[in-house]
Parts: sequence; structure tokens; C-alpha cells
Amino acid sequence: MTDAAAGPDELLLRLRNFQSDYFPLHQQRFQDLVAQGQHPKTLFIGCSDSRLVPYLLTGAGPGELFVVRNVGAFVPPYDGTYGLHGTTAAIEYAVLSLHVERIIVCGHSHCGAIRVAYEGAPDEAIALQAWLKLAEEALLPVQSSPEAIRRTEQRVVVLQLERLMDYPMVRREVEAGRLTLHGWHYVIEDGEIHIFDVQQGNFVPASQSVHSGTGPYQPYVENDGQIFSY
Ligand SMILES: [Zn+2]
Repeated sequence: MTDAAAGPDELLLRLRNFQSDYFPLHQQRFQDLVAQGQHPKTLFIGCSDSRLVPYLLTGAGPGELFVVRNVGAFVPPYDGTYGLHGTTAAIEYAVLSLHVERIIVCGHSHCGAIRVAYEGAPDEAIALQAWLKLAEEALLPVQSSPEAIRRTEQRVVVLQLERLMDYPMVRREVEAGRLTLHGWHYVIEDGEIHIFDVQQGNFVPASQSVHSGTGPYQPYVENDGQIFSY
């Protein structure tokens, strides 16, 4: 069957283009990764939003990022139960089996998860309603506004870093100096990551930051002195 006869299946054409155009340029890399296995140094926990493109942001290629994405880039509380916790399983695998050296939690501007956390999910979206409770502690007691949502998006990132530290294997590796935690907030319209700096208690644009994340968690005090713990 020719492409013309296949009709307007754009996705099929893209699959063929990948193998014919992109893959040959990187074939050796992929085959090395098969022969030697993957050894990514980074676990990237990102929101599912289609505008967040981790590989473009970080300049990463095949084998460099172990990625788990979900609505809001949330980290479920560690409870040690034998449950169907996909994000938790990814964290356990990345830390215990892949021995990643850093974990990035990446939220972003105009995040639908945060907006819906304020405005409420559809009645039928039962799982989504439960999932969005993972942002509840970071919501501000104000009307949702662009500024409140932006600040909440950043507070939610910090909240997930705190939750990560409740994972025994994460805390152990962080305290041993083998693992660093990075909180990022991506501003889509600027193409810039803002990096959480625990010393400053603030998010600093990458263009002005001296690091890609402050590493080990310390108690977080916001600029106005409000201690962010519950
Ligand atoms: Zn989002």
C-alpha cells in the first residue's frame, strides 16, 4: 500500500518518518542502550501537559531521562502499601534499581491541574477529584487569579519535594549525598524554567540562577516568612 492509498493517517506517516529519517542518525546510540542497558541519571517527574517537553527543555536524548508524568506532576504520599501506585513505583524503580542521581519535579504555568483544583473537576471524574487532593495543601485561601495560580503552581512543586523526602529510599540517598532534588516551574510563554532555591525560599529564573536546584531539602520558608508546612 502506498502512502497515498493509506489515506490521511498523519500519525502513521510520522511513525514511518521516525524510522526512515530520525532513527538512522541515532541508530548506534539506541543499539548501545539496548546492549548495555539504560543508565539514566535523572528521574523527571512532570505534568502530563502537552506543552511541557522534557527532552527539549533539558537537551536530553535517548537514555538520559527516566520519565514519569501525571496530571499536575504530583508525588503521592508514601504509605508503604501494596497498591497500584504508578508514580510511586516509578520513584522506587528509579532510586533503587537505576540509582538515579537527581529527581526533578517539574510543574508549569497555566497548569490545568491547578486550575481545576481551585474550580473543581467534573462529577464523573472521580479519580481526578481524588488525585487533585494532592495539591490541596498548597492552595491559597483566595479567589483563583492568574497570580494566585502561578504562586500555587510553585507551592505545589515544593510540596511534592517534601513528599519525596518521606520516601525512605529517597531520604536515605539524599542524606548520603548521592541524590539531589530539583524543583522546577516552567513558564511556557517565556521558554524558561524557574528553579526552586531553598536558601532564598523562592523560584529563580534559570537565566539568573547559579544552579539547577538546591539539592537536599531544608525546611522551606517563603519570602514573607510564612513557613510552608502543615
Ligand atoms: Zn499541568
